[in-house]
Order: sequence, then C-alpha cells, then structure tokens
Amino acid sequence: MANTSEEILYVYKDKVYLNITNKCPCACTFCIRSKKDAIGDASNLWLNHNPSFEEVKAAIDAFDFNGYNEIIFCGYGEPTNSFDVLVKTAQYIRSKLGIKIRVNTNGLGSLVNGRDISAELCSNVDAVSISLNCSNKEDYLKTVRPKFGIESFDEMLDFAKKCRALTENVALSVVDVIGEDEIEKCQKIAEGLNIPLRVRKYDNSSDN
Ligand code: SF4
Repeated sequence: MANTSEEILYVYKDKVYLNITNKCPCACTFCIRSKKDAIGDASNLWLNHNPSFEEVKAAIDAFDFNGYNEIIFCGYGEPTNSFDVLVKTAQYIRSKLGIKIRVNTNGLGSLVNGRDISAELCSNVDAVSISLNCSNKEDYLKTVRPKFGIESFDEMLDFAKKCRALTENVALSVVDVIGEDEIEKCQKIAEGLNIPLRVRKYDNSSDN
C-alpha cells in the first residue's frame, strides 16, 4: 500500500514537517510516538513503509508552500535512518523552493549509517537541531535507551561538535520535563560546545 502525502508531510503550527521514516535506534521514555498516532494536521504518522525519494517528492509537489518559510525533517522516526532520501529531498527542496531546511535529529546518525555523516548533512540543510536530552551518559542510556549502548551520549556530543565546526546553525535541545537542575547542567554542556540550548515543551513534537 502506498503512503499518503499526509503521512509524509504535515503542518504543525506555522511549520511544514517531513516524516520520512518510522525507524529509530532509540526508545526514549518520553517519545510522543507511544502516546498518540499523529501531530498537527496529520491523521496518522505511522508509515506503512519507508517512503522512497519519489514518494517524498510527490508529497512536496502536492503541497502549497505559500506562507511557510521552513521545512523540518522530523516526524515519527529518526530522519538520518533514511539518510539517502533525506539528502536527495533536501537537494530537491533547495532546487525548487526558497525555504529554510532544518533537521531534528537524535545525533546518532553516524552510528546508524556506519560512517561520519556530519559534513554531508550540514552541507545539504540550513540548520541542525540535536537532542541532548540529558547531562550525562548514564541518564542518557536510561532515558533515551539507544541501541548503541552507553557510548551513545559521547557519540552524540561528538556529532554536535563536528556539526558546530561546519556551521553556526546548530542547536541542542532538551525537553522541559527533565527539571531545572538538569536543564542547567545541559546549559553548561551546550555553552562548552558553543551551541545554543533550546528547551522544548513536552508534547510539541515527536522528536528532537
Ligand atoms: S523521541 Fe525521537 S529519538 Fe527518541 S525514540 Fe522517539 S523518535 Fe526516536
């Protein structure tokens, strides 16, 4: 069965989102996917298969971008799990639309793809937002539950560092439910990396 364009592309508030995969190497305790099936104007973000570039392109072509200035790879999965589609889609958006492209990622894309993807990612999008989530590797392992184990936290920080060396448009993010003390510790980590920290309200996005 084909995915519908609503499952691949959806609108939340004033932004357009691309849901290009449901795959993710993590199982965050706060992941919105376990609470509801959709966000924004989407009816269901569970894809019946990983869309091809042609399917994502068709969803973009069918959408009227008038009044929107940003498109975000996010959705019900980790976008770098479909990295080839992400890159091709970003290149297509750049060739067709004058719109800013952001990727919301858990920062584990190099582990997912078995190679350093930071340069390819940063050269094809305008902004990268990376989930920091926790201030230390032990809490990260318990909260994010990455399949790559305890070293995932340091790998995510290394990815953030590499992206920051390539572009100023990198942000780290935490969800506000972690509490003020933890947010403060995360703020220090972000400052040490010269990356701004975005504190997201829980429930305003599926990811990152
Ligand atoms: S919040 Fe994001 S990184 Fe965590 S399990 Fe959900 S999709 Fe994966």
